[in-house]
Amino acid sequence: ALQVGIVGLPNVGKSTLFNAVSNSAKAQASNYRFCTIEPNVGQVDVPDERLAKLADLVKPDRIVPTTIEFVDIAGLVKGASKGEGLGNKFLANIREVDAIVHVIRCFEDENILREEGVINPVSDKEIIDTELQLKDLESVERKVARTEKMAKTGGDAKAKAEFEVLKRCQEHLEKGRNIRELGLSKEERVAIADLFLLTEKPVLYVANVDEASIHTGNKFSEALREGVKAENAEVIIMNNSIEAQISEMEDPADKELFLSEYGLTEPGLNRLIRSAYNLLSLITYFTAGVQEVRAWTIHRGWKAPQAASVIHTDFEKGFIKAEVIAYDDYVKYGSESGARDNGRLRIEGKEYLVADGDVMHFRFNV
Ligand code: GDP
Repeated sequence: ALQVGIVGLPNVGKSTLFNAVSNSAKAQASNYRFCTIEPNVGQVDVPDERLAKLADLVKPDRIVPTTIEFVDIAGLVKGASKGEGLGNKFLANIREVDAIVHVIRCFEDENILREEGVINPVSDKEIIDTELQLKDLESVERKVARTEKMAKTGGDAKAKAEFEVLKRCQEHLEKGRNIRELGLSKEERVAIADLFLLTEKPVLYVANVDEASIHTGNKFSEALREGVKAENAEVIIMNNSIEAQISEMEDPADKELFLSEYGLTEPGLNRLIRSAYNLLSLITYFTAGVQEVRAWTIHRGWKAPQAASVIHTDFEKGFIKAEVIAYDDYVKYGSESGARDNGRLRIEGKEYLVADGDVMHFRFNV
């Protein structure tokens, strides 16, 4: 499954957010598949109203949402790249994630220790960025050393091009910048893919604000928004303590009431999950049968055979065609046969670009 790593300085509310995630995961356990992965990995369903709507129409035995995993990456402190705190341990976790959620403390509370003095979202962000950049610089320099000779002593064009990209990355990192801002082309990114660079991963920021500011934000979240403007990154305003409380409530009516007391229509966690989904250009398609109505995650731009492969790898190889009904048509005509009778069931081939919300049925050879 897709993995998102939660990073941030100590005492900013990372574990609180992680608990909110893993509590929601536990709350879902009775209805849905659930696997405990590791103590610091929590899996949650991607909230999607369309799934429930389809299930209403089809009345299947099972409803299976698509999921996303959050990884609590502890031990990232000033000096972590040089082995301070948990030092390198956090790296094993963070290398593998698809995206980063960077939690920033935007609340004041003198009872909660802060090593860095007064609250300063932008400098907090930069401290973490610096640690990640230093780690990336190490990886890049190591590879520069390995490839330099080959590139300079008549290496092939590919080796030379790769070396060029590495040097650009090196200079960029040395300036205290993140690789994600370097605007590398697809080919260039392939050239450094083996390094799993930390500052290349897409990021979104959680401004963990005080309770009073969940709707408006506060001066800290504003400073953060200003400070990350150039990155084009999203800043999500939420209060992680409230999220943790919401997630502990089992009775949906209680949850509803609690949310409304805060003037919320849904948990902030849902917004966070949706944003992570968008950040990674992910879309959802559905399969709908009497046994199971299910949501599947794919990348935007995938063609039908590749989309089929997330169900089973054999589906890609043996792909023949797909029967496709757009979600809106499915709902409008109430069923597959309804959509077919109204000419809204399409037969699509190998080149079909799957659209968000497509209800798909694959035909394949085994
Ligand atoms: P971590 O070190 O980043 O994982 O931080 P924790 O999640 O353990 O939070 C540190 C402390 O801050 C805990 O005592 C939390 O209860 C508290 N905390 C977390 N979020 C908030 C918040 O939004 N407001 C306030 N006042 N305290 C919070």
